[in-house]
Amino acid sequence: MSEVMNKHVPVRTCVICRAKKPKALLLRYTCPQNRAGRPIPDPQGARQGRGFYVCPEKACAEKIDRFRGWIHKCKGVL
Ligand SMILES: [Zn+2]
Repeated sequence: MSEVMNKHVPVRTCVICRAKKPKALLLRYTCPQNRAGRPIPDPQGARQGRGFYVCPEKACAEKIDRFRGWIHKCKGVL
């Protein structure tokens, strides 16, 4: 456990690679209005509602466009 991973830092899991990282190091997306929509980037973390997190690295960020698993993350709000 490094200092940055202590319990005072909110940690979230990247939905693509499942890495656990401090919230501040991940990109937040919020759920679209319906299943036909796309996840909405929320760089400020200011949007209300259900969201999920993805690494900012290309490897993960690029996959979010084709990743359909977010639908499960957004279950209940779609
Ligand atoms: Zn990732």
